[in-house]
Amino acid sequence: MTTSTYQVWGWGRADSDEPERAALEQLAPLVRDHLGLPVQAPERPAPLAELATDRVASRLPPELAAIASSAPLDRAAHSIGRSYRDVVRGIRGQLDVVVDCVLRPTAEAQVEAALDWCAGARVAVIPYSGGTSVVGGVEPRVGDEWSGVVSLDLGAMSGVAEVDAVSRAARVRAGTPGPLLEEQLKAHDLTARFYPQSFERSTVGGWVATRAAGHFATRLTHIDDLVESVRAVTPAGVWESRRLPGSGAGPSPDRMLLGSEGSLGVVTEAWLRVQPRPTARWAATLAASSFPAGARAVRALLHDGLLPATARLIDAQESRVTGTLATVQAAVVLGFESYGAPVGELSTRALELCRDNGLDVLEAGERGGAGEAWRSSFVRAPYTREQLILLGVLVETFETAITWDRFDAFVAQVTDAATTALHRVCGAGTVTCRLTHIYPDGAAPYFTVMAPARRGSELAQWDEVKAAASEAVLAAGGTITHHHAVGRDHDRWYAEQRPAPFAAALRAAKHAVDPAGILNPGVVATG
Ligand SMILES: Cc1cc2nc3c(=O)[nH]c(=O)nc-3n(C[C@H](O)[C@H](O)[C@H](O)COP(=O)(O)OP(=O)(O)OC[C@H]3O[C@@H](n4cnc5c(N)ncnc54)[C@H](O)[C@@H]3O)c2cc1C
Repeated sequence: MTTSTYQVWGWGRADSDEPERAALEQLAPLVRDHLGLPVQAPERPAPLAELATDRVASRLPPELAAIASSAPLDRAAHSIGRSYRDVVRGIRGQLDVVVDCVLRPTAEAQVEAALDWCAGARVAVIPYSGGTSVVGGVEPRVGDEWSGVVSLDLGAMSGVAEVDAVSRAARVRAGTPGPLLEEQLKAHDLTARFYPQSFERSTVGGWVATRAAGHFATRLTHIDDLVESVRAVTPAGVWESRRLPGSGAGPSPDRMLLGSEGSLGVVTEAWLRVQPRPTARWAATLAASSFPAGARAVRALLHDGLLPATARLIDAQESRVTGTLATVQAAVVLGFESYGAPVGELSTRALELCRDNGLDVLEAGERGGAGEAWRSSFVRAPYTREQLILLGVLVETFETAITWDRFDAFVAQVTDAATTALHRVCGAGTVTCRLTHIYPDGAAPYFTVMAPARRGSELAQWDEVKAAASEAVLAAGGTITHHHAVGRDHDRWYAEQRPAPFAAALRAAKHAVDPAGILNPGVVATG
């Protein structure tokens, strides 16, 4: 009997969600016709290759040995995230490097004990929460100078610890995944209203560590906006900021931890700003003659002071593939919601502005139809993606942000560079674009790449396309990431993007709180 490796690379539950061969065979012709790409016979996931010997577990002191696991599937599952590269390597059972063991603290004292022991034993520590990193953030590519690497899994430190209903804030433990957070806040009639596409698996600690962004297009959409204070354990002591609605006291200790990706400290909990659950919702789907025309319309909304909860501009091809619009038009999925003020006036004004900018209103009012097709495709995306990969489709995304003055040229240049690389490397393929977030001064374009993969060479294929796309993003003035984080995969472009004195300051800060350099070596503050 072979053991399923789905827990290593899959998105869903290991006992029920692994794609079955028969279902994939049925899906294959539909995928081919719908995407216009060749598909291959469903790949059978390979058993896990034998792992290198665990160098750590036998040396652990008893209190850490009690929370350690060296089970091969556990070690493998903690050594990759969920990028295309990760899923392919997981399916093949071939991971380049693997953590020696997994530590699962249940209390902060155990996090402190782990950091103490690892610093003394020259063992690198990779904080791990939901493991949904798409940038190599949890992968133990740490170099040879360590006597071992452990994954510090915060999953057992989870749940809402305290709710302050007066200030509308909640103290949440780092390992809390999206669904548990919402379930526990619901008991108080509250919501964090934070829904990244990885909501099902990603956690509060991961969101804080990576400066994640939820799916709302405007207003409170980055985790930065929701964080009131953070508590983290560093090798130099506990780093906890005051709970404050705002503060002008020097550089922000919260901001410094946000986006530090496990390189400065282990986030153990955060106070998050929460809200009542929305009582009024309004949605509309509109069609634009082109992507730039749609962009002009959504920009006009922001410049008029409107802050729609949803404002997804989706290019014509992605609109067709996701089932949003069958016509060859770009789609705008628009939504307002409120827990008090009526949304009627806002929606009327939004439709007026969109019509003034040449958009056709296809539906408006209750949720449903095209907008719902888009939402369901969005939620199912992680499951669909693994099916596509098993059918030999190269499928991955990259994202960025740019100001409006450079927007049209930027999207054209980046799409062109990625498409050219894709055709050179894969012989065919598509690059589509949508806007995930919009701001008064710019927007966050999000690109989806699909192409026929050559089995055995797909990692090299993707690396080449990704490099071309990333070069184009930086050359045209964008950021290497708007919300997917830096990790190890974006490091060389991040090094190019950030100012040199800032890099030196960050390295010095890391040295101050982590003198042995054990925390996530190679990521953000260490690069
Ligand atoms: C299908 C899919 C959809 C996604 N959609 C979105 C999206 O909509 N928005 C978005 O922002 N991102 C998205 N992501 C990326 C990913 O989900 C985010 O980066 C997320 O914040 C990671 O959270 P996690 O709990 O899974 O963290 P992990 O993957 O476990 O860790 C991510 C990084 O943070 C560090 N870290 C984790 N926990 C801690 C901690 N407690 N203390 C210190 N460091 C820690 C890790 O070392 C690693 O460097 C998506 C990923 C996938 C696969």
